[in-house]
Amino acid sequence: MPLLRIARYRGGVLLLYRDVGVLLDPSTHVGTGDGTDYYVFISHAHIDHSRGLSIASFRRYATYQTIALCRSRGQNIDGVYGVRYGDIFSLPYGVSVEVLNAGHILGSAIFRVETPEAVILYTGDFNTVRSFTVEPAETARCDIAIIESTYGSPNFILPPRGRVYLDLVSWMVRCLNDGYTPVIQTDVLGNSQELNTVINKLTNVKVYVHPRVARYNRVYEEYGCQLKYSVSGIDFLDGVYIVPKDIFLDNPRFKVGFASGWALRFSNDRYPIPFSDHADFKSIIGYIEEIKPKKVYTFHGGIYDRVLAKEIMSRVNIDASPLPDYDR
Ligand SMILES: [Zn+2]
Ligand SMILES: [Zn+2]
Repeated sequence: MPLLRIARYRGGVLLLYRDVGVLLDPSTHVGTGDGTDYYVFISHAHIDHSRGLSIASFRRYATYQTIALCRSRGQNIDGVYGVRYGDIFSLPYGVSVEVLNAGHILGSAIFRVETPEAVILYTGDFNTVRSFTVEPAETARCDIAIIESTYGSPNFILPPRGRVYLDLVSWMVRCLNDGYTPVIQTDVLGNSQELNTVINKLTNVKVYVHPRVARYNRVYEEYGCQLKYSVSGIDFLDGVYIVPKDIFLDNPRFKVGFASGWALRFSNDRYPIPFSDHADFKSIIGYIEEIKPKKVYTFHGGIYDRVLAKEIMSRVNIDASPLPDYDR
């Protein structure tokens, strides 16, 4: 009987070895008293991954950057242990957890978990493309990989970043010359800071950001990212304006763009800026070819978990399936 179990649990991933439970990115509370000794590791500060930081009854670990980003939006992070890339934590029974860079957003981590039975690599959200704000994801040897499948379908291949950035700049300049404010709707954490940097580096156009973007900008600056911007409410402005993707805009002097990997599929009359802080399909396959696991579990992509698993089996000939649910 193997002692190691790997499953979906509480919205995240459970790696259970004997009674040591390494719990990655759980989103709901974990019951106490089931005899398991839980260690919660949070991969990054996006809300769908970091709710578990506030589960006070367990030991919780996250990078210092993740802790700072969560704190900046008012999340309770009392008692969370700060970790750095390269740290290795030894747990009972020869289990250890190593922290690697995931290349997704500031502070995002991949966790490499060694157990006496197998080495497991959990990518969380990851990206292999070099950006202006984060280094690309690290690779590491493993037996079993748990890979995010957000863009796990062959339809999701993003154009090269350089081209997307040049298109973005010419669109912005066109809008400004025509007397409009170019407004970019995007993720407030990650994409916003990358776009702010890109525009600063490639142009002299003034960057304005919404207050919900600004609070994360400040943490990026604290960790060495140089950003030039002003904070503004919704208004007609003499520069480009970066705002949350869920905000309502009806100013006739705005021209609106949408920056996301999903802009490949839909942009609802907005100017599409197809770029992402997630690996696209080609990068996911390339990453798997590099780490050469014996088995891949797909995770976090909804319907794409199944699609990606099939593609991995046919393209790189590695056994793959969606991560199973935990069943006692
Ligand atoms: Zn994320
Ligand atoms: Zn995610």
